[in-house]
Amino acid sequence: MTDQASDDNHRDLILSLEADIRKSMENGFPFLKFNHNLESHFLTYNLDARRKFFFVMTIIALFMYNLFLITDREMFPDMYKAAWQIRLGIVTPCMVIILALLYYRVWIRYIDFMADFLIVLSAASIIMILQFSHHPNVVHYHTGIILIIMFGNIVVRLRFWHALTVSSLIFLLYVVTVPGITSMAPPVMINSSVVLFSALIISLIANYQIESALRWNYLRHLSKEIETIRLEKAKTELELISSLDGLTGLANRRNFDTFLDTEWQMGAQYRTPLSLLFLDVDNFKSYNDHYGHQAGDVCLQKIAEALNKCIHRSRDLCARYGGEEFVVLLPNTDEQSALQMAEKLRKNIELENIPHAYSSVGPCITVSVGVATMKPQKTLTPQRLVELGDRALYRAKDLGRNQVQMLDEENFSA
Ligand code: GH3
Ligand code: MG
Ligand code: MG
Repeated sequence: MTDQASDDNHRDLILSLEADIRKSMENGFPFLKFNHNLESHFLTYNLDARRKFFFVMTIIALFMYNLFLITDREMFPDMYKAAWQIRLGIVTPCMVIILALLYYRVWIRYIDFMADFLIVLSAASIIMILQFSHHPNVVHYHTGIILIIMFGNIVVRLRFWHALTVSSLIFLLYVVTVPGITSMAPPVMINSSVVLFSALIISLIANYQIESALRWNYLRHLSKEIETIRLEKAKTELELISSLDGLTGLANRRNFDTFLDTEWQMGAQYRTPLSLLFLDVDNFKSYNDHYGHQAGDVCLQKIAEALNKCIHRSRDLCARYGGEEFVVLLPNTDEQSALQMAEKLRKNIELENIPHAYSSVGPCITVSVGVATMKPQKTLTPQRLVELGDRALYRAKDLGRNQVQMLDEENFSA
């Protein structure tokens, strides 16, 4: 897909979310959930930034988690080897696998679940160690679970509903396991459960506030983007309208002047000839006088259509110069090709067979064409090309109309 097409898709997508965005901003989102489409956009729009963030967080987690390898041996000499096996044989490999998934962008849509899994696994490993050791020191290890919950809810900033599920699961696991911990006296069990519960609530409150602010920022960012898209669209439409002729839909005089300047510069730079065809409808005043001004307008539209049909190269420009006069600008075109093109246009308009019973030329609408070809030079202005075309047109008129003329003496003038 081209950049332009992907930009357009992006704009269309954002605009399609506008109603949902407005609704969420008006009504709020106490349950931290938007409408379906907006929610899926929210979850995916900065997925790669989240992936990188999770990658760094997992490295930090890996380091901090294994820092306790140093204290395991002193804290509970009865089963420190089993603790090391749990840390190095289960949890660390899982962290490394998830690091690889994050690095190689595998299953990226599920990164929230990957984070959930690591948090639950790390906490479960501590609970396992607590359960298997009979050493009195082990009672201090429940603080590790608090650290893990805090890390997940406040630092990694799991999505709120994930954080709530993960924290509840860990707490449940703890209160189910704690009665089986032989080295822990009942008051300590109760106290540690209460402390864990409090940590859970505090970190969930913080997590809710963080996600709420994040979602508000996201909505504000999208609203701003929509505003910009609308302004740009209006600007493009305005530019288009102001560059087109209202009656024929061709480029207007202003647009032609700009193009002429640009092509003159290009011709001077690349030393390529620039040609101009100047067309004027023959006896158009009498057409208007007899058929009416409205019929005259329709006739001009038909002529414009016939001209447009012959223009195929992307840089060729067909414009309404004013009244019943048209111009065709042909970049990189020599006099021979310009003459051929002029003759083709003149013939095509004649073949349109628009009846004109009052023409001095024939039974239908015809045009006279003046052709000018020059090699543009930076020291000259493009007006010279227009003057030359205009003079050639007058010659065509003088010589009887419905014909193509070119002024030989001015060709390739300095
Ligand atoms: P010639 O063959 O010498 O060009 O004769 P002509 O009658 O075409 O030339 P003249 O300049 O005398 O008349 C041009 C006419 O074009 C006058 C005007 O009424 C008509 N005209 C100019 N602009 C429009 C337009 O937008 N709509 C209509 N219907 N007529 C227009
Ligand atoms: Mg005229
Ligand atoms: Mg005319």
